[in-house]
Amino acid sequence: MSKKLLLKDAHIEGIRYFETYRKQGGYTAAEKALKMTPDEILEEVKASGLRGRGGAGFPTGMKWSFLAKPEGVPRHLVVNADESEPGTFKDRYLMEFLPHLLIEGMLISSYCLGSNVSYIYIRGEYSWIPDILEEAIEEAKAAGFLGKNILGTGFDCEIYVQRGGGAYICGEETALLESLEGKRGNPRLKPPFPAVKGLWERPTVVNNVESIAAIVPIIDITGAEYAKIGVGRSTGTKLISACGNINKPGVYEIDMTITVEEFIYSDEYCGGIKDGKRLKACIPGGSSVPIVPANLLLRTVNGEPRYMNYESLADGGFATGTMMGSGGFIVLDEDQCIVDHTMTLARFYNHESCGQCTPCREGTGWMYKILKKIEKGEGKMEDIDLLWDIQRKIEGNTICPLGDAAAWPVAAAIRHFRDEFEWHIKNPELSQTQNYGLANY
Ligand code: SF4
Repeated sequence: MSKKLLLKDAHIEGIRYFETYRKQGGYTAAEKALKMTPDEILEEVKASGLRGRGGAGFPTGMKWSFLAKPEGVPRHLVVNADESEPGTFKDRYLMEFLPHLLIEGMLISSYCLGSNVSYIYIRGEYSWIPDILEEAIEEAKAAGFLGKNILGTGFDCEIYVQRGGGAYICGEETALLESLEGKRGNPRLKPPFPAVKGLWERPTVVNNVESIAAIVPIIDITGAEYAKIGVGRSTGTKLISACGNINKPGVYEIDMTITVEEFIYSDEYCGGIKDGKRLKACIPGGSSVPIVPANLLLRTVNGEPRYMNYESLADGGFATGTMMGSGGFIVLDEDQCIVDHTMTLARFYNHESCGQCTPCREGTGWMYKILKKIEKGEGKMEDIDLLWDIQRKIEGNTICPLGDAAAWPVAAAIRHFRDEFEWHIKNPELSQTQNYGLANY
């Protein structure tokens, strides 16, 4: 059984409220942190090996150490709660059931970074959660854990919740900052990075909800102890939101030492494939990461078991591996049509493109149109090569990673399931009524 750090108290009735959270030891990590210096906290975070839980997996301690500290210029912590990646809903779970874990993590992080005004930017579709967060903020304030002169330390901290307007692109950190400033959520060219010029051109750290919540157990048990959990550079625990054709969709906390096979088939996690069907493929890190067929999902190219961690999932690179990404684990059974699935994703990225760069604005639309044609049985063999060519011309040629996120699913689908694309083209009469997965898999 995986060790639980974030969700250990999630089952306790009333844990959403300050009184219950406090009774379970809540805010003791904050009390401990406020007796430390900001540099000591930073060292603990670095020692923990925590990697950003939003998708990129960049070391959090290193990110914090890049924060510029010009004299007299305010700094900010912004929590990215714009969780819009298809298949990902673990931050929603944390905020809905354990809001004080996030607030406590923000207090410690704000103290470490020197942010007196911090923000939670939350996706507009999570319409009921801002009220939960604002209630928790008020409770923490009434108990002296937010506001002026927190616990007599002289440190002031306010936290504000900002609702997004429902655009996927605002999950990209610079688009989020633009939106938070009241502008259209267009990603900015980098450099300058937010650590130097972020919110209102002030030094800013933007971190994912789960990353900031993880600061609480890191301070609680120390960074060194946190680093002992997990394996290699995949330290600590990770929340996975599992969905698709499985028996037990939900949010699970794992310690990154379990195999993918165990995660899918064990009753402790996904409980196997629904209706006893066979596993066809999986997208283990949210819709932007490459899809992998069952054989390469459960075993690496060398025949080793694949594990639920950053390194093992990426083993083999883009040719045979995938990525941990945001932890949105989407399972596809033998009946799923890969062309249809890829087309749905292409439509999503086309719709969500902000339109600033030509390869993304035009390329995502072209990919969607070609995939739609193939799926309808109106495609030609050369369309597959055309799709491949377009995705290659998008990748690495755009302002923000949405372009890559749109290109990778198409590349991986063609790489691993080219025969299925060809089947649609060769069998136009069957393309709409049957799918290759059912007939041949
Ligand atoms: Fe906008 Fe797409 Fe360019 Fe990102 S890659 S800035 S979403 S057009």
